[in-house]
Amino acid sequence: MVSLKRNSKLELVEAKGIRSRASSIYTPGQLDDFKISRGKFSTFITCPRCFYLDRVIGLAEPGMPGWTLNETTDLLLKKEFDICREQQIPHRLFAKYGLDHVVPFKHEAMDDWRDSLRKGLMARYDDSNIILSGGVDDIWFDTQSEELIVVDYKSQASNYEVNPNSYLSSPYHEGYKIQMDFYNYLLNLMGFKTGKISYFLVVNADRQAEGFYGEMKFSETLIPYEHDFSWIDREVNNMIDCLNSDKLPESHVSCENCAYAKQRKNYD
Ligand code: SF4
Repeated sequence: MVSLKRNSKLELVEAKGIRSRASSIYTPGQLDDFKISRGKFSTFITCPRCFYLDRVIGLAEPGMPGWTLNETTDLLLKKEFDICREQQIPHRLFAKYGLDHVVPFKHEAMDDWRDSLRKGLMARYDDSNIILSGGVDDIWFDTQSEELIVVDYKSQASNYEVNPNSYLSSPYHEGYKIQMDFYNYLLNLMGFKTGKISYFLVVNADRQAEGFYGEMKFSETLIPYEHDFSWIDREVNNMIDCLNSDKLPESHVSCENCAYAKQRKNYD
């Protein structure tokens, strides 16, 4: 994909491929606080080299266009759940899944926790200078156990019916599980108690419809996921070691981007 650099007035400007904001770049051994988002942690899990090039060297990845259709389903779901949150009643989908005792969680910081760009859930890791953060889609409250339930909205368009087993075993959804483990980890670091199960609310567009006619129909499925954040401490420590190292980690052998960049060098 060709990505052209534009300024805030949408004028084309020179792309330098390097970050200009010093606060986005970590200096190995630094003592000042440094924020790491869930997205950057996921990058570290996938490829420590890409994480290091971004956070320590300061390379700027090419921009991506917004996922406006997916963002719209998230936005509309949020509106629906907020009505139930305000009234502290179960959402219309809950009865079908035996969740009549669950309501959307009401908390004064909910809007901050959902703001993945500027705020999100946030906690210092141990006594380090690393602040971990991540913006959740939603949090529900189990009125019986008094535990929180993390929820992630997912939009897709698949010809196959959404099924919990195939959904959770898909290699393409591994990152979703990391995301969920991380949010549960963060909430626990912040002093909240979460239950054993989190949910993906998957809305699947109907590709078999007769035509568009100005609307798109979606099925709605709740996928229960038994999260596990026992592994996260270990990886956060590995990530901090990586940040404080002077050594560039190895690249991922299956990465098409690096393979492309290496081949591309032959023609520069
Ligand atoms: S292998 Fe891929 S993910 Fe890793 S540094 Fe290269 S481009 Fe980034």
